[in-house]
Amino acid sequence: METILTIDQGTTSSRAILFDKKGGIIDVEQKEFRQIFPKPGWVEHDAEEIWQSVVDVVRALLEKSDDKTRQSIKAFAITNQRETTILWDKNTGEPIHNAIVWQDRRTADFCDELKAQNAESDFRQKTGLLLDPYFSGTKVKWILDNVEGAREKAKNGDILFGTVDSFLLWRLTGGASHKTDMSNASRTLLFNIKDKKWDNDILSRFDIPAAILPQVCDNIGDFGTVKKDLFGLDVPVMAMAGDQQAATFGQACFQRGEVKSTYGTGCFVLLNTGHELKFSQNRLLSTVAWSIDGEVTYAIEGSIFVAGSAIQFLRDGLGLLAHAKDSEDMAVSLPSNDNVYFVPALTGLGAPYWDAQATGLITGLTRGTTKAHIVRAALEAQAYQTLDLLAAMKDDSGTDIQKIRIDGGLVANNWVCQFLADMTAVEIDRPRIIETTAMGVAFMAMLGCGILSDMNQIRDIWALDRKFKPIMNDAERQTLYKGWQKAIQKVQTH
Ligand code: ADP
Repeated sequence: METILTIDQGTTSSRAILFDKKGGIIDVEQKEFRQIFPKPGWVEHDAEEIWQSVVDVVRALLEKSDDKTRQSIKAFAITNQRETTILWDKNTGEPIHNAIVWQDRRTADFCDELKAQNAESDFRQKTGLLLDPYFSGTKVKWILDNVEGAREKAKNGDILFGTVDSFLLWRLTGGASHKTDMSNASRTLLFNIKDKKWDNDILSRFDIPAAILPQVCDNIGDFGTVKKDLFGLDVPVMAMAGDQQAATFGQACFQRGEVKSTYGTGCFVLLNTGHELKFSQNRLLSTVAWSIDGEVTYAIEGSIFVAGSAIQFLRDGLGLLAHAKDSEDMAVSLPSNDNVYFVPALTGLGAPYWDAQATGLITGLTRGTTKAHIVRAALEAQAYQTLDLLAAMKDDSGTDIQKIRIDGGLVANNWVCQFLADMTAVEIDRPRIIETTAMGVAFMAMLGCGILSDMNQIRDIWALDRKFKPIMNDAERQTLYKGWQKAIQKVQTH
């Protein structure tokens, strides 16, 4: 038996998952950590807590394993919440500020200033991204501007920056490896995806010293050896990838034109555009899907910040339901949405609107409105938001998207899957294993270790659980979508 120990460091929890070479899960451990909201629009994590949660889940998993299983582990693989920004002291290893999370909007005004200077198209050409607080670059600048003495120390080479992959790798290797992979680098707003290197013009514009940046590597390769005294294992980290790119790999979307959509905290749709870097005409992002043996595969991405977290908000914030899964019965209990729409712009609006200042809205309330209407509206919003992105993608790629592979916690909800097929008028394929993120990076590590010899084997492992076909008629689809478009217009601030 040969296995890969995968660390899936997500926005709300860290997991350690042991995969066999068929993508089967041998065991899994999970631990949640604190979400810190210091001010409206600000979202932080304690980087030390992230690290501890990772150590805890790996140790817990190994403690449950017998000797034979422990010996089967050939390598680690890391996938992570993207863009979240950590700066730490190179000498003490201590973070100099809480991690600023991808959802954090504190740099919205700075992004607006840059846009007012007409800088956006330059950033876009270089990085494939837009000027939005979502990406790491302006968060790095914020920390250097706001932590006393940080820039000076950074200039002296005493501070390191990393997205979560890079921070974990540095800690796992006892400070030996300060590296990242190209999929994560491509989300920082500092990395030139055409030239495949950190962009000096952007670095000087943000006054970020190049010395703090990690070395950018292919997704598959020897990233460094995990320190033996941590877990008693003497194995390398063989793959790293940002969560959405890893999911695209785990869904075996290897061909140009193939699309996956993940519904977890947020919703992220990626269209594989092959080895060609394509720019969206519709405010979607261009990004690196992966780089293997020096060859880059690109993707166009639509990022929606609030997907499953809308259900969490209705559950924990408003108390409208006890468990996320209750949402399915509540939606089914109604014959229609009765014109109630929920625009879940709870952390601004992502693609294709990019409105960091927008806030959420529920419209169409009457005396007859019930909790079920609001919950159903939150589920419907998943499909409307996906349709917004698909319309943009179809236009960009010039091809008709025929089907989408879906994953993420929310797709356990059959009602959503069917509504998604109906609204998008596209076939929706749900795989048997919806842990595609962790599985994707585990497959990368297997390719790196020679456990798998080529990507076609992954295509063969991918198995369908259920296919959802569109059955709604066009007129109904259009009426529903018009209702959504009206609602979303109301929340936009520009
Ligand atoms: P992440 O990896 O981003 O933390 P997951 O992929 O684990 O998220 O998905 C969890 C999200 O899915 C939560 O926000 C939860 O509200 C939502 N969710 C889980 N199950 C259901 C369900 N049956 N119906 C609707 N939403 C669900």
